[in-house]
Amino acid sequence: MARLSVLDLRGDRSDPRDRLPRPRTDLAAAREAVDATLGAVRDRGDAALRELTARFDGQDVDDLVVPREVLHESLERLDPRLRAALERSIAQVRWYHERCRPLDWEDHLDGVRMGVWHRPVSRAGVYVPGGKAVYPSTVIMTVVPAQVAGVDEIVLCTPPTGTGFTGITSGEHDGWPNRTILATAALLGVDRVVRVGGAQAVAAMAYGTDAVPACDMVVGPGNLYVSLAKQQLAAQGLIGIDGYAGPTEVAIVADHTADPRIVAADLVGQAEHDELVVALLITTEAALVDPVEAALEREVPRARHAERIETALRNQGTVALVDDLDQAVAVAEAFAAEHLEIHTEDAGKVAERVRYAGTTFIGPWTPVSVGDYGAGPNHTLPTSGTARFTGGLTTSSFLVPVNYVEYTEEQLRDFADAVGALAHSEDLPAHARAVDVRFEPPLAEDRSR
Ligand code: NAD
Repeated sequence: MARLSVLDLRGDRSDPRDRLPRPRTDLAAAREAVDATLGAVRDRGDAALRELTARFDGQDVDDLVVPREVLHESLERLDPRLRAALERSIAQVRWYHERCRPLDWEDHLDGVRMGVWHRPVSRAGVYVPGGKAVYPSTVIMTVVPAQVAGVDEIVLCTPPTGTGFTGITSGEHDGWPNRTILATAALLGVDRVVRVGGAQAVAAMAYGTDAVPACDMVVGPGNLYVSLAKQQLAAQGLIGIDGYAGPTEVAIVADHTADPRIVAADLVGQAEHDELVVALLITTEAALVDPVEAALEREVPRARHAERIETALRNQGTVALVDDLDQAVAVAEAFAAEHLEIHTEDAGKVAERVRYAGTTFIGPWTPVSVGDYGAGPNHTLPTSGTARFTGGLTTSSFLVPVNYVEYTEEQLRDFADAVGALAHSEDLPAHARAVDVRFEPPLAEDRSR
């Protein structure tokens, strides 16, 4: 039984954007819930955080802040193989993000000195999800670029999933967040970890509570509640945010060279995140569809998170059939995927032709998994088509560009006439006066002071 819907775009060169799959969500209901959460945290601080944690995460927590001893104990108990993997990922992500640091510059235009200084934000809040899955990798992806940017203080919020070191399992609940998340925070030297999740965590980082200091920025992926809270608080000018990193998306551009088993595995790999994941295969080869479906039939039922994957593929899983690679590129560009894989002849060349994607994974040996787990580029990436105008989380997300300029008297004299003309054209004569006054002789009373 086919899991993927077929969107036949062959012979049709109209803009496909409205027909491409996106998750269906009840935005109005979620907005209402988020509004109530924001108000509760703003008005009642930690008391509201405890209530909402009991309601949404089923945990009665007393101390919201995770004590340092618990962070260090988690690191000590971490499996050495997992620790080595985290350390490798941290080193690779740091290497990449050091190269993403925007450079300060200074130059002279007709002798006038000007330039840009990049200044790190003072305090960054990072959100590490923990609803359906847990993401120690997101600790790395949010904290490392903040550290490379030189942020003074990092606050990390994550829900109390209480599932030991591996994933989210039913079983004994010790009330703490996932221990690998705590160990990764300790490994990176983050010592302010707060056990709170969802919109309430974002609200706390924006407004500030006793347990959570108010942050200048809040970054990191999360579900719809987390994303809406970030958007609403950013719109109020309270925090800067990294963008819209919502439910995961993967688009795969494939031609006759693609291996259906690999294509299916990569669709399933991303569908494992969430029921809302969008998996899109864009192919010139109609003959690829049946083998991909057959591979899904083998892989999905035996996957650990089969139910979630099944729902995501059936609701949003789509094959777009196209005439040729030109059309494949156009469709990929219109979708502006969070993750774009290229499985074609000359994959590098095809990759360069797609203008928009969060990250492009080139060729059959580059699954999205290497990006998720720290090849180097960030895995907190733009979703829902926002890759059309923005990129993923990176070093510059934490840096504020401060422009500067310095005129001498002679240089101002040279520009004065043009400034005056423009100021009068805007009917803002005081702007012109602020220039002219500098060239008038001082008044007698000023001289006497
Ligand atoms: P999450 O931490 O974002 O959400 C869990 C929290 O949501 C809970 O702690 C709870 O407080 C709150 N919540 C749950 N139900 C609620 C309700 N009915 N009303 C209000 N609040 C509620 O974890 P998640 O749910 O697993 O979502 C993580 C998301 O992040 C997934 O969609 C995943 O695909 C995505 N993700 C994206 C990226 C990226 O870079 N784009 C990376 C990793 C994960």
